[in-house]
Amino acid sequence: MPLNIVESTHKKAKPESEQIPFGRTFTDHMFVMDYEADKGWHEPRIVPYEPLTLDPASMIFHYGQTVFEGLKAYRADDGRVLLFRPEKNFERLNLSSDRLSIPPIDEQEVMGYLEELVRLEKDWVPAFEGTSLYIRPFIIGTEPSLAVAPSKSYKFMIILSPVGPYFSGGIKPVTINVEDQFTRAVKGGTGMAKTAGNYSSGYQAQAKAAQEGNADVLWLDGVEKRYIEEVGSMNIFFKIDGEVVTPALSGSILKGITRTSILELLKKWEVPVTERRISIAELYEAYEEGKVEEAFGTGTAAVISPVGELNWLGNKMVINDHEIGELSQKLYDTITGIQRGRKEDIHDWTVEI
Ligand SMILES: *Cc1c(COP(=O)(O)O)cnc(C)c1O
Repeated sequence: MPLNIVESTHKKAKPESEQIPFGRTFTDHMFVMDYEADKGWHEPRIVPYEPLTLDPASMIFHYGQTVFEGLKAYRADDGRVLLFRPEKNFERLNLSSDRLSIPPIDEQEVMGYLEELVRLEKDWVPAFEGTSLYIRPFIIGTEPSLAVAPSKSYKFMIILSPVGPYFSGGIKPVTINVEDQFTRAVKGGTGMAKTAGNYSSGYQAQAKAAQEGNADVLWLDGVEKRYIEEVGSMNIFFKIDGEVVTPALSGSILKGITRTSILELLKKWEVPVTERRISIAELYEAYEEGKVEEAFGTGTAAVISPVGELNWLGNKMVINDHEIGELSQKLYDTITGIQRGRKEDIHDWTVEI
């Protein structure tokens, strides 16, 4: 479909240092496309960033029919702008949409629109160490109706936000609370979809964890509260007695693109790695035997976030003396190196804008 571009006449000031608070500054333009049952997705356009006007009865406000994605554009040392495996984000967006009864987008067409948008906003991709341009595609149900049924109309949008380094002043391992009361997701639920309700339903557990000095929550399975699932917005990996273990995708775990990339790297490096069910009790037992060597969360935001301490029902597990592990560091350096064009992209993971 032809893409209509309306250029903004008031250009905003861009961040002048790496001190950029997450997700509060937005660029000059946004991408919008509409869906109507009889027209399908139509009218793709790039327009000046501005507030939306929506009917208060719009279905998004009432039953949460929405999905989103998160990826980044990186500034390479030589000035090029690179995306990291963006096709995987649109593939996952369609999986999330399917779960939420939202009509699919044409992944390749939307990829083209994203490239146009990032090209137009290229100067917004910051060059300071560790910074990037965060990309947030999302879809909302817009039909004005209180009927409990899928919306007949939708808006797909992409907004862009320059973001600072996840770790300022070096990577710091985090302390995480193992949640024993609240549930994030169950098999058959929406845990494998990036949809709004999965996150707001975790705020209480997050607040409880924060009160006790934890930076995040480690979720267990919703049925038995035994098996490890993932962190707030990160997948989780452990290195136990030389072997890397991550929970297998169970239907309630989000399939992270960083997770997939790490599995591919470890296999290539011939580091023993398994995706399987792992219980918190098994982890604790291995910990007591001194076998838990490293633990780290993975996601677009931090790439690798080492876990320095886990708190589970009053049991404290201190991992690698609150230091980043050797393998965690190697994975971090490799992935960020590819994203920044400093390491050869032998997997063909980056897309140059
Ligand atoms: C987005 C997200 C992740 C990480 O996915 P990436 O594609 O690696 O950024 C993990 N868990 C949850 C719940 C998420 O929302």
